[in-house]
Amino acid sequence: MKYLVLLLFVVAGWLNAQEKYVLVIHGGAGTINQENVSAEEEVAYKAKLEEALKAGYAEIQAGENSLEAVQSAIMVLENSPLFNAGKGAVFTHDGRNELDASIMYGKTENAGAVAGVTNVKNPILAARAVMDNSPHVLLSREGAELFAKEQGLEMVSPVYFWTERRFKQLQSIVEKEEKKVGSIDLDYPDWKFGTVGAVALDQEGNLSAGTSTGGMSNKRWARIGDSPIIGAGTYVNGEVGVSSTGWGEYYIRSVAAYDVAARMMYGKQSVSRSVKEVLNHIEKLGGNGGMIALDKNGNVSMDFNTQGMFRGAITEDGKITVELYKK
Ligand code: ASP
Repeated sequence: MKYLVLLLFVVAGWLNAQEKYVLVIHGGAGTINQENVSAEEEVAYKAKLEEALKAGYAEIQAGENSLEAVQSAIMVLENSPLFNAGKGAVFTHDGRNELDASIMYGKTENAGAVAGVTNVKNPILAARAVMDNSPHVLLSREGAELFAKEQGLEMVSPVYFWTERRFKQLQSIVEKEEKKVGSIDLDYPDWKFGTVGAVALDQEGNLSAGTSTGGMSNKRWARIGDSPIIGAGTYVNGEVGVSSTGWGEYYIRSVAAYDVAARMMYGKQSVSRSVKEVLNHIEKLGGNGGMIALDKNGNVSMDFNTQGMFRGAITEDGKITVELYKK
């Protein structure tokens, strides 16, 4: 009996020592290594990720719903030109910025998304409005823009999204493409930096997840990636929340975000094992990228099969970790 009590104390102490994560974010996966990111850029990326974590954490601390935390964190990243979402989005082949976003709430499994919008300042807010105030899940292009305007969201001129860095990136990809005749050079070192996403767990134990992106550089024919697709770019239920980043076509084909949840539900896998296996599957198909996932007990996974992924997390006690490269 004495030993049993002792064992219980040890187990309780161990459980207490486990850190409980409440918010996890990513700022995109890709060829992110010390050669491609300058020292100043590194400081700037880390500072912005921290700012986003703090903005989301403030909502959770104030007792707000996890949806508010996801939205606040993503808005910080959308408003920063550093990331491929909102301002700073990549360009389409025709020199436009077409933005995609989605958000989902685990408790009700309700979701909202927009695709191909060009004049909504914060696409994540449009996704939220679709979820809250429309009978639909996914609105696209002019229709989504009209809806956002009717909802009173801040609209901007498409020029707002223009940044020199991304425009130069497009030009360089197009030049390479012309030389290669007809095939997009996906090895370009900067081709998929910076989609953003967040997963949060609030004080009531409710999970939410969201993702926002400009998609992939040089995309055409009104291409839509995984980010606004529920089950691929974003998914959350009562057990786990997931946000993806990477080569969208592969995430759609493998229903990546939902597969993480399914492996946990039906296969009783842990959050980190589920994410790892989904990424392995994507790699087998020929794709790459990363994912963040947070389960209802506060266990976190931030994994990728690219060289790096901008990522960060904050625990219940406010401790922040931010990372860029492979460990
Ligand atoms: N997944 C996004 C897309 O394919 C791109 C990214 O995550 O960087 O649109």
